Amino acid sequence: MKSKIVLLGPPGSGKGTQGEKLSEEMGYVRLSTGDMLREAVRNGTELGMKAKGYMDSGALVPNDLIIDLMKEKISTLEPGTGVIFDGFPRTVEQADALGEQIEIDLALNLDVADCELVERLTKRRSCPECHCVFHLTHNKPRQEGVCDKCGSLLYQRDDDCDETVCNRLEVYRKNTLPLIDYYERKGILVTVEGTGKMDEIFAKVKEAVR
Ligand code: AMP
Repeated sequence: MKSKIVLLGPPGSGKGTQGEKLSEEMGYVRLSTGDMLREAVRNGTELGMKAKGYMDSGALVPNDLIIDLMKEKISTLEPGTGVIFDGFPRTVEQADALGEQIEIDLALNLDVADCELVERLTKRRSCPECHCVFHLTHNKPRQEGVCDKCGSLLYQRDDDCDETVCNRLEVYRKNTLPLIDYYERKGILVTVEGTGKMDEIFAKVKEAVR
């Protein structure tokens, strides 16, 4: 089984959903920079205050802040822990920094067409507590507005509005897309079609991880 996994793919490609399922079923620790940053913003920490403006506009938070944050998290892991990096790295500089600290053995790229991403993101509803995500049409919570898993009230992320979504996709193409070649050159890239039924996608994801 692969032990250190990077999840690649544009915003809305299902990294959070698939990463969460892998973590639940196979015991990986999922490290999501987006979740960490949103928590920092909610708690009003120094990092949160620095990051908020970038996040609200859909821009990337500066590399040095993110790299320090991840280094700190990685240093707390027990040796041999299986880890999934979700939303990190997002730039070649971050990927180089990660590679200096840890040997990645799989980069799993979720491939989804742009037109579907916008629909997924603008109708996404997220749980602030357990980070589960739902969709107003395709993956409704059992009770409207309430998380199936932990019962918290769902919310729409500030950056999941129409305008910011377009910017985030542009930022992805410019900064993060090059990581597909980056990991392909290292011989560890697997691309999975990220469209279709969630469980079918998860079956392909599990196959890549084994
Ligand atoms: P996400 O939840 O992964 O979509 O991330 C939400 C926002 O957090 C992004 O649009 C960025 O502003 C910021 N962010 C998350 N991860 C990173 C990263 N690795 N590098 C820079 N900014 C990030």
